[in-house]
Amino acid sequence: MADCVFCKIIAGEIPSNKIYEDETVYAFYDIQPEAPVHFLVVPKQHISGPSAVHEDNCAVVGHIYAVISHLAQELGLSNGYRVVTNCGNDGGQTVPHLHFHVLGGRSLAWPPG
Ligand code: AMP
Ligand code: ZN
Repeated sequence: MADCVFCKIIAGEIPSNKIYEDETVYAFYDIQPEAPVHFLVVPKQHISGPSAVHEDNCAVVGHIYAVISHLAQELGLSNGYRVVTNCGNDGGQTVPHLHFHVLGGRSLAWPPG
């Protein structure tokens, strides 16, 4: 997607602090961290958000969770972490490219505001 900031990051047109990349996913540190460890995992395919996940494109979501598990272990989040995907205006989604926040390194309050 020409106008998508995460598509541009994946294409290397905008710099990012990359953690991991394979054929279908890309992981990088959030530019405005809300926890000592805060990174994002995104599909390389442009999917606008959770509401655009369907039977024909959902396989990458399972793979993303496997990548999250692997990266969380590598980054020392042995005490736990949170995975968050915001959807639409009420959900607080600001970037319209499906992404999974991974937050850890401190105790996180629940429920969110
Ligand atoms: P959301 O509000 O759930 O859509 O999350 C978007 C996230 O993307 C926010 O936490 C931003 O800080 C993060 N973000 C936006 N632009 C960049 C960027 N260029 N590099 C890294 N993270 C970014
Ligand atoms: Zn995109």
